[in-house]
Amino acid sequence: MLVEDKFEKLSYEEAPKIIVKPPGEKSKLLLNLQKQLETESVVYPKIFQMAIDSAKGATIRDVDGNYYIDWIAGIAVMNVGHSNPYIIESIKNQLDKYVHWMSEIPSDIRVEFLKKLHSILPMRSKVMTTVTGADACEAAIALAKWVTGKQNIIAFDGAYHGVHQGIISATAKRELQHYSSMPYIGVVRAPYPYPYRCPFRARDEEECGELVLEYLERLLSDPYSGVGEIAGILVEPIQGEGGYIVPPKNFLKGLRELADKYSLLLIIDEVQSGVGRTGKWWALEHFGVAPDIMCISKAIGGGIPISFIAFKEEFDNKLPEMFHLGTYRANPLGLAAGKAVIEYIQNNDLLERTSKLGDYALSRFLEMKEKYEIIGDVRGKGFMIGIEIVDDKDKKKPSQKLANMIRRELFQRGILMHTCGHYGNVMRFMAPLIISRRHLDIGLDIFENVIREVTEKK
Ligand code: PMP
Repeated sequence: MLVEDKFEKLSYEEAPKIIVKPPGEKSKLLLNLQKQLETESVVYPKIFQMAIDSAKGATIRDVDGNYYIDWIAGIAVMNVGHSNPYIIESIKNQLDKYVHWMSEIPSDIRVEFLKKLHSILPMRSKVMTTVTGADACEAAIALAKWVTGKQNIIAFDGAYHGVHQGIISATAKRELQHYSSMPYIGVVRAPYPYPYRCPFRARDEEECGELVLEYLERLLSDPYSGVGEIAGILVEPIQGEGGYIVPPKNFLKGLRELADKYSLLLIIDEVQSGVGRTGKWWALEHFGVAPDIMCISKAIGGGIPISFIAFKEEFDNKLPEMFHLGTYRANPLGLAAGKAVIEYIQNNDLLERTSKLGDYALSRFLEMKEKYEIIGDVRGKGFMIGIEIVDDKDKKKPSQKLANMIRRELFQRGILMHTCGHYGNVMRFMAPLIISRRHLDIGLDIFENVIREVTEKK
């Protein structure tokens, strides 16, 4: 109970509290100024029409004095919560020393962070520093190509690995590919075993996984498959932007076997699913596989952009100097935050709490699925839960319109929740892991009310 009190104190007690319908006057002013000063191609200010003042724990205050419960966590970044005193103190200590110098030069904080990171990695590895999630994924592909001497990678439908000019080839969203000048070379697209919408006719989840694996094996073994030499398979252990999709149990194990059989590398992208989000340090632990290369970003920096790849030690002696570069890699403030993030999760048994509370939230969402016509599927692990909104449960017809309506209604009532999915119809639960049980319940009740109302209005 004492521990729960501690989590309660991390957030604004009064959330959710809407005193003026968002956007209030001050928010409107800032939104308008932004519109004049910045490109209008931004998306979030159009969806969540508010300007942020401050954030604490699992709650946000806007500039008009409204308080929201945050189920977005800066897109799965603020796993240990906003303004977490333990993280802030660590950043402040580093601020007093230095903010930035030459990225590769060692310091106490760099080595302390790296030791911590190594202690939670799933395999004996070397670490390479990068800046963003996309940067890490690009470095991972470059490494796989270098080590194997092969040119192509396999990536999946529904995948999201970033939008830098190189990695965009592996990102599945058609629009994003279109904006990029990068030609579609080097990526072989494969179906992801999406149990609710299996790309093959399968009787059940496991068979869906098996059929995808069989398809991949054929691509790799058939001299006439038209697929070039493959350096590695890039995969999200639980798909993020694609719709919070948990693959069948056999899938990642099967990928591991294929990788070993055909001498290619298994690159696991833990950018969104890592650092405790699913109740384990890494989502891959749910499936009992070890990667050859792993991409890490988002939550590891507690809000400060840092990212990494971890890879098998033996690859390192093949790498030339300057293999990967970037002025801002391993920002010391990020490393100070990262060390504190790992310690905080360890010191507060957050993995176990996330599993338990995640199971509870999942069971509440599953109950709602039984009750309401518009919820087609509920799936997830820990605090990575997808609730798929449909127009017609039997036909599984996706409804982005209803999902957007739900998002808007939640926002108006002080719950921040975002969507994802192939059709933009999946509500995703990705609250900070330190959300209090009370705030979680308030959010779940409001979510259910909104679902009920939207179902009735439909
Ligand atoms: N990989 C995954 C799985 C992601 O979810 C994201 C971002 N949502 C990225 C890579 C790209 O990260 P970034 O936006 O930091 O480039």
